[in-house]
Amino acid sequence: MRLSHAKHQITGAWRKLAGNEAVMPMMDDADGTGPKEQSMRFDTLIFWVHAEKSVLRERLDARVDKMLEAGLLEEVRTLDAYAEAEAAAGRPVDKTRGIWVSIGYKEFKEYMHALRNEETSEKDLEYWANTALSKTKDSTRQYAKRQIRWIRSKLINSLPASKILYLLDGTDVSTFDSAVVGPAVELTSSFLAAEPMPEPSSLSSAAAELLQPARLHYEDSAPSPEKWTKQHCEVCDVTCVVESQWGQHTGSKAHKKAVSKRRQRDREAYPGAVLGDQEVAGGQESGDANVT
Ligand SMILES: [Zn+2]
Repeated sequence: MRLSHAKHQITGAWRKLAGNEAVMPMMDDADGTGPKEQSMRFDTLIFWVHAEKSVLRERLDARVDKMLEAGLLEEVRTLDAYAEAEAAAGRPVDKTRGIWVSIGYKEFKEYMHALRNEETSEKDLEYWANTALSKTKDSTRQYAKRQIRWIRSKLINSLPASKILYLLDGTDVSTFDSAVVGPAVELTSSFLAAEPMPEPSSLSSAAAELLQPARLHYEDSAPSPEKWTKQHCEVCDVTCVVESQWGQHTGSKAHKKAVSKRRQRDREAYPGAVLGDQEVAGGQESGDANVT
């Protein structure tokens, strides 16, 4: 399998998953019954291509720079001109949804304002362009962070036994073939042949660490771990090594406040669906049974 092919398949799986996720109840749903088996009809193999934080950050920044080179500013101008024309025609666009909230457009509001103002100097315009660019980079990083948090706190906790999530470490590009493509191809073959599969956490140290579900403790009714080890509160970034300490933390005002704030933010970020990305959450349904 060629790299581009593998990449395409991985992206396809992600899209497929995101499409299914829209109908997959979250762990903190009101009825608290947890995942429903019928929401994903087929045995499912999921790959999470991971990159270590600092490397991911560099890649995300580079991605935004590439967007700029590929004509991002021109695109923003075109969109804005369209919005203006629609407004002038009495059909104002709804800027709270769709493309109007996409990363790389809304961050350019001040820049567009400066651009429309004839008194803006070249230097100021450059300043606003740079500001918009760094805002876009920030938003992109925040978005990636939310996705990872979503995988660790929602997806991992919701997966029934028939769905397998493997983390492949793509941090080092020079070993991408052996660390990502090779294992993905092998795992997919075993999966399709219904052969025994390795334990996901056995694949790499990153897998061992990150496939541990991060518990958000939104609900007191959330199932307790069988054995007490240590607990980490994702919301407050607090680790408790003793059970009583954990009880104290989850009962604290600060934690409860942070949790309700987080819930509010998640609700705003993901209206209707768990994953907020317009592109993926739009559910590019391919209708095929095998997610590879
Ligand atoms: Zn907390």
